Amino acid sequence: MDTETNRLFIKKVSEINTALSPKAAVDTYGCQQNESDSERIKGALIEMGYALTDSEAEADVVVVNTCAVREHAEQRALGNIGALTHTKRANKNQIIIICGCMTQQDHIAEKIKKSYPYVTAVLGTDAPIRLAETLYRCLTEKKRVFDVRPPMDDIPEGLPVFRESGVKAWIPIMYGCENFCSYCVVPYVRGKERSRPPEKILEEARGLIESGCRDITLLGQNVNSYRGAGDTDFPELFSMVCSLEGDFLVRFMTSHPKDATKRLIDAMASSPRAARHLHLPVQSGSDRVLSLMNRKYTSASYEELIRYAREKMPDITVTSDIIVGFPGETEEDFSQTLNLCDSVGFDAIFAFIYSKREGTPAASMPDDVSREEKGARFDRLMALQNAVSAGKHASLVGTRARVLIDGPGGNDEYPLSGRTGGGRLVHISGDAAVGSFREVEITSATSWTLSGRVL
Ligand code: SAH
Ligand code: SF4
Repeated sequence: MDTETNRLFIKKVSEINTALSPKAAVDTYGCQQNESDSERIKGALIEMGYALTDSEAEADVVVVNTCAVREHAEQRALGNIGALTHTKRANKNQIIIICGCMTQQDHIAEKIKKSYPYVTAVLGTDAPIRLAETLYRCLTEKKRVFDVRPPMDDIPEGLPVFRESGVKAWIPIMYGCENFCSYCVVPYVRGKERSRPPEKILEEARGLIESGCRDITLLGQNVNSYRGAGDTDFPELFSMVCSLEGDFLVRFMTSHPKDATKRLIDAMASSPRAARHLHLPVQSGSDRVLSLMNRKYTSASYEELIRYAREKMPDITVTSDIIVGFPGETEEDFSQTLNLCDSVGFDAIFAFIYSKREGTPAASMPDDVSREEKGARFDRLMALQNAVSAGKHASLVGTRARVLIDGPGGNDEYPLSGRTGGGRLVHISGDAAVGSFREVEITSATSWTLSGRVL
């Protein structure tokens, strides 16, 4: 499917919808990549004449964009798809489309076909460009459409995008992953690594900055694998985006420690527009487990990189992902993870209990650690991290930070919310325009958030 054919289908569906006022709901699970795909799915729906709604009950079209990274995400999506029997019963013509990483797996696509007869269509991770064609078929053929294809080899450009925020934006720079970490399903459902040409990325960034965007995240499963036309690599691309005109910050997600280089850190350190935030998933502090995970770095090389980043940017926020209870993880392996977290002192971590994913190498590794023990290790890790985070946040009370005001806050005391360059959430009192950078004095802190007042 190319962009032009997609446009044709968008037009055809919008013609069917003329004089109707149809509504569409999009339900998204998983990572920023999925959120970003959903922005394109919403963009296509709007061009096809649908008004977006949060209510699945009143929607004529429901799209569920699913995640496959952990079983929990799949169970939640399946639970929600199950609940759609009621909306479908109330509206027989409702079109229900399931797409994303979960349905890209044959056994799940099959399960939905057999066990969820009220689901109208199933697509894979190529939904942003195949949705219009699928909807057209649902509307005209009046039968179920099952059309999961292998992940695409190229990247469609010029798709309509609907962004919720005018202040912050994701720009996908590459898709797919070929790292094959032994626990991870992503390479199987997202396909080969492919990168957008730098000029397309710069054009999108320029347009966003001109329209008021102040915080750009360059997005990819492994941004370090970025290879643009003419062999532009990620540090070069990052510097190019940082060099655009305007008052904005650039960050990136996600970087793999095996190929996050000192050159990348230097590129960050040399631009004031580079957000002082490094999210670098370490996964484990045990070299034995890292090797079983096929991660291709050691805890020592990881710590060395963080040391270098902090030397160059003393105020940098460092966050990480950690998997607890990888098959065969011993108490000794786990205590090395605790030691690493203690020694690095992350600002925050995202910790996950290992989830077995069908078809991945780790799924057939012997695993003699009980669920209870994994749960207990998870709790121990979080207790350590909460104490570290609380200490770091407490030390910020009384200091000043430059904060991007990104939206209204939750209550009267703190009517604004914002993020520091390091990505820390701040509840803010005082008055300031959304989309402005302001000096804020930090007045109190918890493990997770800061509060402050506009100066
Ligand atoms: N490409 C990114 C993000 C991958 S998914 C990266 O490499 O960092 C986001 C996080 O989910 C991973 O960092 C990992 O910590 C976690 N994850 C992936 N597969 C998992 C599994 N099978 N069980 C538990 N956590 C998993
Ligand atoms: Fe999964 Fe590893 Fe690729 Fe990240 S780098 S998406 S964890 S295989």
